[in-house]
Amino acid sequence: MTKQLPYQILLYYKFVPIPDPEAFQSEHLQYCKDLGLKGRILVASEGINGTVSGTVEQTEEYMRHMKANPLFADMVFKIDPSEGHAFRKMFVRHRKELVTFRVDEELDPNIISGKRLSPKEFYETLQQDDVIVLDGRTDYEYDLGHFRNAIRPDVDSFREFPEWIRENMSQYKDKTILTYCTGGIRCEKLTGFMLKEGFKDVAQLEGGIVTYGKDPEVQGRLFDGKCYVFDERISVQINRTDEDIVVGKCHHCGKPADRYINCANDACHLQHICCDQCEELHHGFCSETCEETVAAG
Ligand SMILES: [Zn+2]
Ligand SMILES: [Zn+2]
Repeated sequence: MTKQLPYQILLYYKFVPIPDPEAFQSEHLQYCKDLGLKGRILVASEGINGTVSGTVEQTEEYMRHMKANPLFADMVFKIDPSEGHAFRKMFVRHRKELVTFRVDEELDPNIISGKRLSPKEFYETLQQDDVIVLDGRTDYEYDLGHFRNAIRPDVDSFREFPEWIRENMSQYKDKTILTYCTGGIRCEKLTGFMLKEGFKDVAQLEGGIVTYGKDPEVQGRLFDGKCYVFDERISVQINRTDEDIVVGKCHHCGKPADRYINCANDACHLQHICCDQCEELHHGFCSETCEETVAAG
């Protein structure tokens, strides 16, 4: 094993009715601040979804605290060791839904959602003929890394998925569909939606890509590139075999690159994949227009 790092990053969710989410939100924010955690947590009447960082002691205490609550007793935490915090502040927000998805009907993953496949089952099914693999994330996440041969959804936010699926996936209704996302939460809604739309055989990667990357047997095989994450790391390695490759392309020169940066123009801030040379050459700007705008003051 590698040496123990002093911090941990937790990623977790649970769909469970929370009786008074607004009261829970304010109490939970105070609790997290008092404990010294940083991160982002969403609370809704349908459940909780969070990612936080803290010292090993703080994060262990947080997990104990959560599991002591009957609502969250069986919560699964994905744990990444870290050198430091992965967030700057602590937010707990109350939302109507945990994942914003533009459909009218209610989608409760405890009532309807696709089959759950373990990393090993997912890996085996991936290699079967005639399986359709759909990336359940947005285009910019796909571009940094994805499962081999997965379909790239042409959406830049999750709420656009229902419309995109109705327009682009209907020819696959009788096929076996595999979906995956970062930590599993988006697939809970996505697979339920697809079943309601008449897709017959829909399965999701339980625990998402990050869990897949930790599986000691599968070792991230068939995931090409890096996994986009929503904290200061921006991306993490998944494939731990010698098949680990770079699939991202520099926004400027097209050469293989797997690092996202934000455009140095504060008014733009476009997140783009950029190689080291182009970052220097273009001074961190996404375009000449942005560079000229800032130079002109
Ligand atoms: Zn470049
Ligand atoms: Zn720009």
